[in-house]
Amino acid sequence: ANIILLGPPGAGKGTQAKRLEETRGMVQLSTGDMLKEAIAKGTDLGRRVEGIMARGELVTDEIVIGLIEAKMTEGARGGFIFDGFPRTLKQADALAELMARTGSRLDRVIEMQVDDAALVERITGRFTCGNCGAVYHDRTHPTKVPGVCDACGSTDLRRRADDNAETLKTRLMEYYKKTSPLIGYYYAKGVLTSVDGLADVDTVSSAIAAVLD
Ligand code: ADP
Ligand code: ADP
Ligand code: ADP
Repeated sequence: ANIILLGPPGAGKGTQAKRLEETRGMVQLSTGDMLKEAIAKGTDLGRRVEGIMARGELVTDEIVIGLIEAKMTEGARGGFIFDGFPRTLKQADALAELMARTGSRLDRVIEMQVDDAALVERITGRFTCGNCGAVYHDRTHPTKVPGVCDACGSTDLRRRADDNAETLKTRLMEYYKKTSPLIGYYYAKGVLTSVDGLADVDTVSSAIAAVLD
């Protein structure tokens, strides 16, 4: 199946995408991760988007559509999980066009609902493994051994530069202004399902599994 995980920063999209990769052999396509990789590698693209991302603003539609297009043509047997894409109506239209061109279809859009207070708590406690991408949280999901990734044993645990309360304000404004209209867009197409993103990780996984089965 091809699905979109839709929700504000910190809703749990990356966490659930990683689980779907493990349990269903689906492939996560995270434009945020692709952009961060470009920054880490110091590519031209990375240099162009670095400041925009540090401020919490969206990068241009052309950039992320190009990134998604390159990955989609590779195909995925278990289907794609679009994580953090699309974020604007223009991106949603581009995705529909890409799907049509590659002979695939969008099966479901899962909206993860989380209120702002919880998002602040989640974002300011988030850290990830620089080696395997595993996602943790200081309070709700710490590593078993402090400083060591549960999944791969790496000690390269990192915090994102944009995961602070100030930048989160801009990211949330961008979400409500530019991304939240996608909820109505996909509802009208009859592919939207909303899940309670405030529940614990396992419960959210079960709710998503129920949608896919
Ligand atoms: P989160 O996990 O908090 O939702 P992401 O890792 O998806 O954040 O994105 C980080 C940043 O990368 C965004 O704040 C934005 O600057 C940029 N970005 C990621 N995906 C997109 C997109 N589809 N369109 C525009 N900008 C994007
Ligand atoms: P997104 O990709 O939507 O920005 P993440 O998956 O990175 O969100 O999750 C943001 C933070 O919240 C992480 O620190 C993660 O460990 C934590 N988290 C994710 N899902 C839940 C949940 N259901 N309950 C509590 N904390 C969660
Ligand atoms: P600072 O604010 O000076 O960066 P932090 O305590 O926020 O200090 O984090 C320092 C580093 O330690 C972070 O980059 C993160 O990767 C790691 N880290 C923070 N909290 C934990 C934790 N609960 N478990 C494992 N590693 C952590």
